[in-house]
Amino acid sequence: MSSIDLEKLKMTGAGRAMAVLTSGGDAQGMNAAVRAVTRMGIYVGAKVYLIYEGYQGMVDGGDNIKLANWQSVSNIIQQGGTAIGSARCKAFTTREGRIAAAFNLVKKGITNLCVCGGDGSLTGANIFRCEWSSLLDELVQKGRITDTLAKQHAHLNIVGLVGSIDNDFCGTDMTIGADSALHRIMEIIDAIMTTAQSHQRTFVLEVMGRHCGYLALVSALASGADWLFIPEAPPQEGWEDRMCDRLEGSRTTGSRLNIIIIAEGAIDINGKPISSTYVKDVSVKIREEGSKLGVEAVVALMEATPDTPPCAIGLSGNQAVRLPLMECVEMTKLVQIAMDEKRFEEAIKLRGGSFENNWKIYKLLSFQKPSKVSLAVLNVGAPAAGMNAAVRSAVRLALTHGQKVYAVHDGFQGLADGKVVEMEWHSVAGWTGQGGSLLGTKRYEPQPQITTIAVVLYHFLGYAGVLQLFEARGRYDELCIPMCLIPATVSNNVPGTDFSLGADTAVNAAMEGCDKIKQSASGTKRRVFVVETMGGFCGYLATCTGIAVGADAAYIFEDPFNIQDLKTNVDHLTEKMKKDVQRGLVLRNEKCHENYTTDFIHRLYSSEGKGIFDCRVNVLGHLQQGGAPSPFDRNFGTKLGVRAIQWISERMTENFRQGRVFANSPSTACVLGLNRKVISFSPVTELKAVTDFEHRMPRVQWWFNLRPMLRMLARYQTSFCEYVPGEIEHVTRRSIMELNV
Ligand code: ADP
Repeated sequence: MSSIDLEKLKMTGAGRAMAVLTSGGDAQGMNAAVRAVTRMGIYVGAKVYLIYEGYQGMVDGGDNIKLANWQSVSNIIQQGGTAIGSARCKAFTTREGRIAAAFNLVKKGITNLCVCGGDGSLTGANIFRCEWSSLLDELVQKGRITDTLAKQHAHLNIVGLVGSIDNDFCGTDMTIGADSALHRIMEIIDAIMTTAQSHQRTFVLEVMGRHCGYLALVSALASGADWLFIPEAPPQEGWEDRMCDRLEGSRTTGSRLNIIIIAEGAIDINGKPISSTYVKDVSVKIREEGSKLGVEAVVALMEATPDTPPCAIGLSGNQAVRLPLMECVEMTKLVQIAMDEKRFEEAIKLRGGSFENNWKIYKLLSFQKPSKVSLAVLNVGAPAAGMNAAVRSAVRLALTHGQKVYAVHDGFQGLADGKVVEMEWHSVAGWTGQGGSLLGTKRYEPQPQITTIAVVLYHFLGYAGVLQLFEARGRYDELCIPMCLIPATVSNNVPGTDFSLGADTAVNAAMEGCDKIKQSASGTKRRVFVVETMGGFCGYLATCTGIAVGADAAYIFEDPFNIQDLKTNVDHLTEKMKKDVQRGLVLRNEKCHENYTTDFIHRLYSSEGKGIFDCRVNVLGHLQQGGAPSPFDRNFGTKLGVRAIQWISERMTENFRQGRVFANSPSTACVLGLNRKVISFSPVTELKAVTDFEHRMPRVQWWFNLRPMLRMLARYQTSFCEYVPGEIEHVTRRSIMELNV
């Protein structure tokens, strides 16, 4: 879904009824999906029902199927698990159970169903859809429903939302809940690493994943684990000795701590389970050791016809995409079959490109290979989470390529002053999970000859800096070397990439801050918070945080607003306070408006809300840089570091002339970025045209399409509280503006 034209969708659901349920194991983020489905459903004019307790509620009917209004899903976005309950349901696996469920749906006029669950739940949903007409025939035969009723409900549309913590569903890059599960695992690993650094120990950590090694693999990558066991890649015979040798080896090179990660379903080459206890015993011998998907689901349901195959909503890069449900279920099953039949290489391939890529990078960075050009890594600007991970992987990969690697301290100034330190394999041990900038102070080397630069940039300054270096190539031969920029900034405002390192951690930190602020008012009635976010002129952080916390508004520079908009929002909050939900949260990006400052908005709300609500201000400030990087930023950093060095090595080979590297073409000074799913290298000169240098941001920003959704999900419309069939909402000036975005 590249852009949402919300106006076109309005009232497409009039006269239709849809239901949403969560099934199977619960996962973080299911609530955000339920909220988005419910509100988007109401927005398009459909009747929306919440089905409680998964399929069991659908089979039992009665109070388990409730008509929802706008407030039914208020204040659930930040809660874990699922607010509408989830259950495993034996009855639904039988035809009798599904007949009861069909009866309950028909009675309420529901012919659109959104199921949020794992592959089991989605398989069940598909069986239900395939059987639907025969279930209705049987109900007619038994005299439980009339023939007319059956005809009116002849087709059941189904959309799946994949909620599963272990990311075991083929076709989507990320299932709902997997990222949250990774967060928890990383917290545990970080705690172990900080408390145990001083003990010479090995820790064996078992993570969930009976059939899928995703959580284990990504955790291993994000923590720089020493050894990994996953069902998709069983170790060869004799692994016990090799593991012990490796643990011993890292000890002698100065590592004080070893981490072994094992997936629940790990097996050896003969298919025999490898337990964490066994791994521990072996190592002891050497004695030291989870919104946008929900919206897309409703759009897919509204567009479904009897002939459209059922789909699941997945993520492809940063976009919601529709996937053929049954093919994905089939693919997921094929992985299991491949593993059962010991075709492990195929299993890894079937898991999808990103899994295979993660696996290759993990292997690359865990083992040092015997390794003459020199390369420097340089950081510019304020720290961003994930940059240490990028430095670590860049340093290690360059070392395996046989390059001499230097770290430059204090940015471009340090480069000019010769503040350069040679890096070794162990100089970067344990860097993946650490926040801040670890290119700290050490003894400096006499000025070495640097033949290439990999820059990790924070802020926009790194881009501008490399552009200057590039433009000075004509005057200085020394600058005719490949230069690669890795974008790293909480503001996410670097041209040439959809995401910068640190932006994910920042959204997480801002979200956690807002959740706590909301919680602080749980005992207080009628309060509105104005929360200021960072980002310079760039509204990414405010917008994404706004979606994640369900904010009432997010004011940003790129989306101009005036006093009328502020007034509309005060009116909206005033109305909201009269209902059950007596809390409001408004985000304001630090540079969104020259005169409508955070203080101004606070005073305006305080005056206008007098006697109705009170207003408090919070400036999130530097806590948005986040402490430890999020799993996404660790892995993103690790991958960008690897890609940067691979690219640099290729450019060096191409531009090696007369005994030296001489690179002067625009294609040898690039920003490494992620555009949708594709890693790309954009020449710094080409990016000039798409850059707003005054406001330090790209001229076009992909996430701007998320703004209408944020407003739709937050909008308080009395006419939408309770469904009134056939009602057409009047079009506001603001929504006309949205049409043009
Ligand atoms: P998950 O959805 O997380 O994979 P399960 O496999 O336990 O979890 O499935 C959850 C529920 O989905 C089951 O309790 C059952 O009600 C329903 N279900 C699973 N597989 C089927 C099936 N083949 N036919 C009908 N219902 C199914």
